[in-house]
This record gives sequence, structure tokens and C-alpha cells, in this order.
Amino acid sequence: MNKAAKNIIIILITFLAISAIFALLNPQALQKSNEVSLSSLAQQINQASIKEIQVSGDKIIAVDNQGKKIASRKETGVSLNDSLKALGVNEETLKPVNIKIEEEKQGVMGWLFPLSLILPIVIFVLFFWLIARQARGGGMGQGFNFLKTPAKLFGDGKDDKKTEKVTFDDIAGIEEAKDEIKEVVDFLKNPKKYQALGARIPRGVLLVGPPGVGKTLLARCVANEAKVPFFSMVGSEFIELFVGVGASRTRALFQEAKKHQPCILFIDELDAIGKMRMPGMGGGHEEREQTLNQILAEMDGFERDTNIIILGATNKPESLDPALLRPGRFDRRVVLDLPDIKGREEILQIHCKGKPLDPDAKIIEVAERTPGFSGADLANLVNEAAILAAKKNKTAISQTELLESIEKVLLGPERKSHLLSEKEKEISAYHEAGHALMATSLPHAEDVRKISIVARGMAAGYTLSLPKQEKRIKTKSEFLAELAVLLSGYTAERLTYNELSTGAANDLKKASELARDLVTKYGMAKFGPIVFGVRDSMTFLGWEQETEKNYSEKTANEIDEEIARFIREAEAVAVKILTQKKAMLIKIAKVLIEKETIEKEEFEELINIVKRVGTKKRV
Ligand code: ADP
Ligand code: MG
Ligand code: ZN
Repeated sequence: MNKAAKNIIIILITFLAISAIFALLNPQALQKSNEVSLSSLAQQINQASIKEIQVSGDKIIAVDNQGKKIASRKETGVSLNDSLKALGVNEETLKPVNIKIEEEKQGVMGWLFPLSLILPIVIFVLFFWLIARQARGGGMGQGFNFLKTPAKLFGDGKDDKKTEKVTFDDIAGIEEAKDEIKEVVDFLKNPKKYQALGARIPRGVLLVGPPGVGKTLLARCVANEAKVPFFSMVGSEFIELFVGVGASRTRALFQEAKKHQPCILFIDELDAIGKMRMPGMGGGHEEREQTLNQILAEMDGFERDTNIIILGATNKPESLDPALLRPGRFDRRVVLDLPDIKGREEILQIHCKGKPLDPDAKIIEVAERTPGFSGADLANLVNEAAILAAKKNKTAISQTELLESIEKVLLGPERKSHLLSEKEKEISAYHEAGHALMATSLPHAEDVRKISIVARGMAAGYTLSLPKQEKRIKTKSEFLAELAVLLSGYTAERLTYNELSTGAANDLKKASELARDLVTKYGMAKFGPIVFGVRDSMTFLGWEQETEKNYSEKTANEIDEEIARFIREAEAVAVKILTQKKAMLIKIAKVLIEKETIEKEEFEELINIVKRVGTKKRV
């Protein structure tokens, strides 16, 4: 149970205890039950059956003719005479009654009464003070310090040993980004050196890159190595339920930062606030817009010698408001790319540190097989391998686990429990055999690494293929080969069963997208070197989308025709080759049905054998 809850319970118990004491000390409350009402007393007076009345405070004790005592009570502040008069007792009937008025005894009740008014208020105030204190301590959410910045401050000269330290050595594969960031940190440390030459210190540095390449990691490293105060917060933390909170938080954050100059202010996932402002879209976006405007205003308001650098990180640079990217704001961009083979090897090495590795583990081979993996994927891979090794009760991680983890990260866990029916297995086998056979038959296609019909994630089976070399540039021939390989699963099914299945849906989607890119993006169709559709300017990361159609309807028709032509031609290639090599297709499929997985070496052997048999037959 946390401290706040404990405090609340203690307060409640105290409150109940005090109420109980009050009830005990207040004898009137207990007497009340045998009192009669003043009006019934008045009636008895009118009937002349009362001979004496004693008044003490509000309490009334009447004695009737038989000497029996009757308790009652009058209104506070009104005399007994007036009260009785109001109830229809006239002075004549009251005269024979002997009225004695006593001073009220100033007993316990005398001072308890005002106390009973004040005490609840005191308890109430105390209660809220405790909660507020708790909230400020960070235990109970932000209910009480809305307008303060939730930014966390690191490295304020003091060492906090709680968070593990990240150094530049823990980051690999993004050397250029590291160098650039080091330079920026140097600006902060030695501003004089740069100012002497009239250089303007960069205001904002934007880390851009796909998810998991180490943007947050790099910022954490800067926090640790810069030796200046480092404020860190996530874009979405600015946004609250109430409009205006984000803006005032921004103001508070910048004020705080100015107090701690020189310092670094890191806003992670900047796109949460920095999204493009859409004129006329209206509704629901005001809060984000106000926050964004406040950030822009604060960045513009920096004096020339303000020694604050704002570090932003995002994986959606194309969605950022252009105003954020203007000079004087986030004018420096540091691009973090997916690591290449050398980078991957280094990252794997970093994450294998401190884990027992079997001598047979070859990290370079893992790096070879993981193009397109981000740093986070690789970290995940090593972790999965360790878990696998532990499951098998091994004392060290061996190559088998590492390679198995590649597929796990890539495609999700093997679904051994999901048993394919005999028929499904067969269809799946012919489909994958088609892909594999096609890939080996085309000189420009990628090498086959593994074929499997064990269901994984969403896929019923898969063929892993990798480029012979890592490349930055792809040629048209390679694209055409890729298209044919994509369509060969579909074709193999059609040729074998004269029937189609849903198993090819994902292939067809990829093929259609690729064909469209060939036509509209790479100028590889009949139109020649023309690009169609307006894309966002930040194309360097390669995930742009067509945002505007800048061609006529007639051209749109022709583009569609060109796309269809690419697909048809690729299918024709697949049909031709798979028909020619039907014997080989059947052979591969049969082995697949029997073994479920075929590794690279096995596959190459298989193809050679079939080839030899094939030539013999022909001879
Ligand atoms: P993002 O770019 O999405 O912010 P993170 O910085 O959060 O990615 O990376 C997530 C994790 O992946 C890191 O904590 C680290 O373990 C691993 N990682 C990512 N990139 C690298 C890298 N270049 N070198 C070493 N580890 C990395
Ligand atoms: Mg991140
Ligand atoms: Zn397929």
C-alpha cells in the first residue's frame, strides 16, 4: 500500500474516533429519546396539570401535579415565555406554574461546541495538504501541479546512480550521427571558441530515423556525457485534457531551462506536438497547436547568447510542421539510418556483452542474415536467443539459437500448435517451392536462405531470401526479378491445382506496390524519366506517401495500364519458368512436405541433384 492511501486511512479513522467521542460526551443526544415536544408540554400547561418548570439553558424539566418529571427542550435564543405563547399558552394559565431559571452550566459542552465546528475544517485542510504534498513528490499523478513542467532533469552536476549510464561506446552503427552530436555538445561546452569566430550556436537539432535505430538512446548518452543539465520529456507529455496546459507547460519548461544554462532540452517523439497544422480542419487540435506555437515562440525568443540547445527526436519527419524546421529552430538534422552489416555486427557485439556465448556462435553470420534490422530488433534478437538457450537448459547461447531468433523477430514465433491440414500443407509447400525455385532460376534475384512451411506469425509458410550483397542501389532487372519471384507462389498454386487461394494475398499486395513505384517513382515505365504525384520533401528516409495527384485522368489511366503490364509480364516469366521446371517444383514441394524446412545448403544440393537427373532424362 502506498503512503498516500495510508495517510487517508489514518485520517478517516481519526475522524470516526472523534465523532464517536462527541456522541458519548453529548448526553442530550442520548436523553432525547424520552423527551416530549414543547407543544405537548404547552397542552399540559393549558390543562393546568403542570406545577413547576425548571429551565437550564435550552433544557426544560417540568414537574406535573403528580410530581412526575417531564423533560423537554426549547428553541435556543427564544425565551420560554415567548415559545409557550407561540404555542397558545396564555399568561393566565402560566401564572400558577412555578418557573425556575438556572444559569446553564458551562460544562464540557461549552467549549466542545465551537471545537466541533472548527475541527472538521482543520481535518479537511490537513487532508488536502497531505495529498498535495504526496502529488508533488510524484507519487500520485499530476493533479496538483498541472502547469509545472513534467520534464525530468538529469546530470545537474550531481550523480544519480539509479539510472544506468549510457556512453557513446554503447551505441554502434550510426557513426556519423554520433560525430555530429559530439560536435553539438562541444558547442555547449566551449561556446567562447565558436562565438569568437562569429558562429551561431545551433538552436535545435532534430534526430530523425526509423523506429528503433537509437534516437532515444543517443539522447540519453548525451545526457550522460555532456556534463551539463539535461531536461528530458516526451512530446505527448505536453498534451493534457485541458486546452492551454501544454502551452503553459512549455513556458515553464523553457523558463526552467534558462535558469540552468548552458543546458540541453530534449523533446522525444516531437511529432506528437509538432504535427502539421491543417488550416480548416478544426476541432480537437487546438491544444496541440497552442503548444506548438508556444514552442516556436520560445525558440524565437532566445537571445543570441542563450546557451540552450534543443534536441528533438522523431520518426515521422514528414509530418512535422514546416515552421519547426525553419532556420533558428530545428535547423540541424541528424539522420540515423538502419545499420549496415558492419554496424549490425557491432550492435550485436554490444548486446552480447555479458552474455555467455558458445564458441561456435558467429556474430558476423547473424549480421549477414539481418539486413533491414534496426538496433532495437538486434537487441531483441540477442535477448530472444538468450531466452531460447535458457529454455533448452543450455549454459551458453549457441549459433542455433541466434539463427532461430532471427526468424522469430522477423516473422513472430513459430506456431507449432497451429497445425496445417494435409491439404493446406501441400498448397503451402507448392507455393513456397515456387518462390524458391524462381529465385534460384533468375540471375538477378536474391539468394534463397531457407524455405519453411511451419506457420509463423501471420504467414502459413515463408521463403527467406537475401541479396547476394548489401546494396544501396537497385536496378530495374533486379526489380523485375523481384516481381517475378513475388508472383511465383501464386503461379505455382495455379499451375499445380488449377485453383487459387488466399495464401498469396500478401505477395500480390507487395507486387502491386512495387509495380506502382516502378512506374510513378523510378521512371522505369514507358513514360521515361518522369515522376508522378507530389511527395513530401523529406524523401531521404524513403517512406514518403503520395500527397497530391499532379497528373491528368488520362495519365492516371495509362499509369494503371503500365502497372498492370509489369504484373502481367512478371507473371508470364513465372509461368514460363515454372512450367519448364515442373519436375523440380514437384520434387522441392515433396521434400518440403516431408521435412517442413529446408536450409540453404540442403536446398542447393537438392537442386543440383534434380538438375542432374533432369539432364540425364533428357539425354
Ligand atoms: P528510437 O530510435 O526508436 O528512439 P531507441 O533509442 O529507443 O530507438 O532504441 C531502443 C533500443 O534498441 C535501445 O535501448 C538499444 O538497446 C537498442 N539500440 C537501438 N539502436 C542501437 C544502436 N545503434 N546501438 C546499440 N543499441 C541500439
Ligand atoms: Mg525513441
Ligand atoms: Zn508467397
